[in-house]
Amino acid sequence: MVSVTKAQINTLIELQNIDLETTRIRLFLGNIPLRINQLEARLNEFEQAIIEKELIISELKKEYRSLESDVQMNQDRIRKNNERLVSIKTNKEYHAILRENEELNRKNSGVEDEMLKKLDFLDEEEKLVLESRSELEKMKRQTIEERESLNKEEEKEKKKLDSLLSSWEEISSKVDPEVMKRFNLAKGQTNGNGVAAVVDSVCQGCNMNIPPQRYNELQRCNSLEFCPWCHRIIYWQESK
Ligand SMILES: [Zn+2]
Repeated sequence: MVSVTKAQINTLIELQNIDLETTRIRLFLGNIPLRINQLEARLNEFEQAIIEKELIISELKKEYRSLESDVQMNQDRIRKNNERLVSIKTNKEYHAILRENEELNRKNSGVEDEMLKKLDFLDEEEKLVLESRSELEKMKRQTIEERESLNKEEEKEKKKLDSLLSSWEEISSKVDPEVMKRFNLAKGQTNGNGVAAVVDSVCQGCNMNIPPQRYNELQRCNSLEFCPWCHRIIYWQESK
């Protein structure tokens, strides 16, 4: 049997609260690189989508220019045909040239329709890309702000952690070594929280009933008591 005082139990509770807060801070700090990566990834993904769209636009512009030069070529051909018309000898040749010009004009009109459609589409897409670019700038500024605020929080939590760790050292050094040994053992067995209150005969660590014969010992609080089910150090607490 390990003897204990109510004050020591209170100290163990205090240590446990420090442990819980320490764990919370360590988790928070451990998550920061992931959160920063996520911010960067979101930004990169958005920028990549814009770059892809810009590539499509530049391809479309190339296609537009190639259509433009097709039209130009057909027009040159028509002009040359017209020049030839004055020196044509036969009716047959004359009509053949007129027919070719007709055909070239018909082709050009089709190509020009296609060019207009492409131009409309290009205008629309370029407008969207411009909007996305300005959205991206906004996102970049936001990301910088979010990173800064995360870094500030990180600094704050690191300081808090340091101070908690030194409090822990200071407080635990005053606890009886045997009690401390049992506390650390219980902590190791129970995922970090080795001390639990018993309220209305129920262990708050595992929600199981504590046998009534243990009540008196618990209320006297002279010796270290353990939950028979979860092996946490238990102490009596009045029900609310
Ligand atoms: Zn229990």
